[in-house]
Amino acid sequence: MSPNLWTSGSSNGDGDANLDQDYNAALLYRRRCQLTSEPYTDRRGGVVMKAMVVREAGGPFELEEREVPEPGPGEIRIKVEACGICHSDAFVKFGQFPGLELPRVPGHEVAGAVDALGDGVDLFSVGDRVGVGWHGGHCFKCDPCRRGDFLNCKSPKVCGISYDGGYQEYLVCPWEAVARIPDALSAVDAAPLLCAGITTYNALRNSGARPGDVVAVQGVGGLGHLALQYANRMGFHTVALSRGKDKEALARKLGAHQYIDATAQDEVKELQKLGGADVILATAPSGKAIEGVVNGLSGRGKLMLVAAAPDPFSVNAFGMLSGKMIHGWPSGSAIDSEDTMRFSALTDVRPQVERFPLEGADEAFAKVMENTIRFRAVLDIAS
Ligand SMILES: [Zn+2]
Ligand SMILES: [Zn+2]
Repeated sequence: MSPNLWTSGSSNGDGDANLDQDYNAALLYRRRCQLTSEPYTDRRGGVVMKAMVVREAGGPFELEEREVPEPGPGEIRIKVEACGICHSDAFVKFGQFPGLELPRVPGHEVAGAVDALGDGVDLFSVGDRVGVGWHGGHCFKCDPCRRGDFLNCKSPKVCGISYDGGYQEYLVCPWEAVARIPDALSAVDAAPLLCAGITTYNALRNSGARPGDVVAVQGVGGLGHLALQYANRMGFHTVALSRGKDKEALARKLGAHQYIDATAQDEVKELQKLGGADVILATAPSGKAIEGVVNGLSGRGKLMLVAAAPDPFSVNAFGMLSGKMIHGWPSGSAIDSEDTMRFSALTDVRPQVERFPLEGADEAFAKVMENTIRFRAVLDIAS
């Protein structure tokens, strides 16, 4: 069994030793606290919570009971209600992110409510519904921050990598990482919007495309199924690029005006029949797939990259000379997350999710990596 405060507390000799040693009593007590929302405390008065922790690179997510963290100056404690699972959580699971220290609780699609405020935080109040995405804080002092470019901060923080993230019942984060969630969105729906949502919404709204322009979304998956909805709601001529017939009906239902099946049609020719795509949003993490569609751009079209393809791709420089652009897009800051969620509430954009309990993180993560989730996995922590 993993170390927890009930068993580790039993050796120090003070308090009610019988209760300490009776794990069943502890479980019953915990259940009562869950049912009544009474704070769950060990006999020494510290409040404890459940967390799913990666202890070593490649190891499983392990359930730990930990003391609920206290927010320091400038920090906010969030009672987590839901946390989405993202491919990028693999950076933690396999210990691959520069500067990452294990053990770590992953999770950067966090939705919940403000539970406590550290000194100096006056923008939020206890009870506010809030979330945190990938951008988990910045320094305000480096040159990019002084220019307002917080995403390129020289000392950035990433939620669930720089500090413990949302695979737990409470997290503490810097106030500048926190975004408000509109009432119309449930925590489970809001969570994926804080990564997959903001990434696609923010890329599209900054792509330069205007209403009526041809915007092709490559890939109908976790990112693509949201991108199709956003592109449609933003007034673009929305084209879905995918492989096979099986996704066509869904892509059209999500908002695609046209569906191009790469297994049966020539994507480039089909896009050029429309005059070329003004924007191609590449959501599929495949350099090879991206390479195949670049020539589907219009003369001054723009390829927007929002997913990290592991394999490189090449382009023909001659074909780019007409004025084509290749543009990478990061997710966004907290206010971009708020914009994403407000727009989603206003225009009825929702993620399609599969729910898992917090303890089901291993199973959910495995399904995400196998690509068998339709379309985002969410840890439903509140229930
Ligand atoms: Zn993510
Ligand atoms: Zn900075």
